[in-house]
Amino acid sequence: MLAGYAVQVEHSRGRRFPEPPHLYRNDYQRDRDRVIHARAFRRLEDKTQVFTRRYSDHFRNRLTHTIEVAQITRTVAGALALNVDLAEVLALVHDLGHPPFGHAGEKALDAAMREHGLFFDHNLHALRIVEDFEQRYAAFRGLNLTFEVREGIIKHSRDYDAAKHPELAEYLLDQRPPLEAQLVDLTDEIGYNTADLDDGYEAHLLTLDQIRAGVPVFESFFCEVEQIYPEAPEKLQFNEALKGVFNRLAGDLITYTQARLIQAGIETLADVRLHPERLAAFSPEVEAERKQIKDFLYENLYYSVSLAGEKDDAERIVTELFTFWMNNPSALPHYYRKKAEQESVPRVVCDYLAGMTDHFIIEQYEKHCGGT
Ligand code: MG
Repeated sequence: MLAGYAVQVEHSRGRRFPEPPHLYRNDYQRDRDRVIHARAFRRLEDKTQVFTRRYSDHFRNRLTHTIEVAQITRTVAGALALNVDLAEVLALVHDLGHPPFGHAGEKALDAAMREHGLFFDHNLHALRIVEDFEQRYAAFRGLNLTFEVREGIIKHSRDYDAAKHPELAEYLLDQRPPLEAQLVDLTDEIGYNTADLDDGYEAHLLTLDQIRAGVPVFESFFCEVEQIYPEAPEKLQFNEALKGVFNRLAGDLITYTQARLIQAGIETLADVRLHPERLAAFSPEVEAERKQIKDFLYENLYYSVSLAGEKDDAERIVTELFTFWMNNPSALPHYYRKKAEQESVPRVVCDYLAGMTDHFIIEQYEKHCGGT
């Protein structure tokens, strides 16, 4: 039932270490299950998506965000007759490399690394997690994921310059990723743009009036909802309007991508890979709406005064702990001290910090840097 341009599991370039086929699951289903059973996946439960402080028990964290993205991705991939199993693994793994404290933590970690002429990139880190840090099998290091999953980890959200990243040469950097990977960057956007409006509203960091005034697409759905359910409680009217936005984004991604595939005469996976640009996209009209939501969230939520304190704390904790272990590498746990014999100390400290949950990094900060 798959489209000609879908990835077919039978044509996978396979695993680094060949393994016999499984009786009940194909290779991408096995990869999905390997990701779900990874320690790094479980740690997403205690990693900030947007809010470090839990304003309520209903808030998204990086794990629930990931599950939501997987849900959207399955639907969109299925509607486009793509390989749903592969798309699902790529969604489940897409945030695996994120450090604690969301974007603030990532920024601080990258800044600390740049002092040593290095950098931090969450996609590259995710690849290191699945290739090296996860140790579950006696026969090999890492999760031994298929080529297409590793390629998608690297290529779903951005293009890497082959000249600057010779270590990624095997991932066909001169070609576009399959549609299953291209989708994930956009389903991720659908997921967090709608979820952050929801969480921001629930936290009283955003008011309904503010959202109605700042997000025209939300406003148009809200007006419809008010007509249909004039007596409904505000929160349910809000939910219905947000559902409208959500379905509009996801539906447009499906129909516009489909139209682009037809227009570009895409029939095979090779056509997708060799096309000069990515094919999965929102239509120009919906793309403008998506950008309006995102700009609104940046201005009113991510960079809001209410969250500034959390972000400062996050950056201070990451930066001071990084400095602490740079100055005291002997205070690193045994595993990381051993690694420092083969790799540079900043890289090892970065790997240690990047893997931490919000809870654990605060504990470490209190232990080594004398409290928050
Ligand atoms: Mg994400």
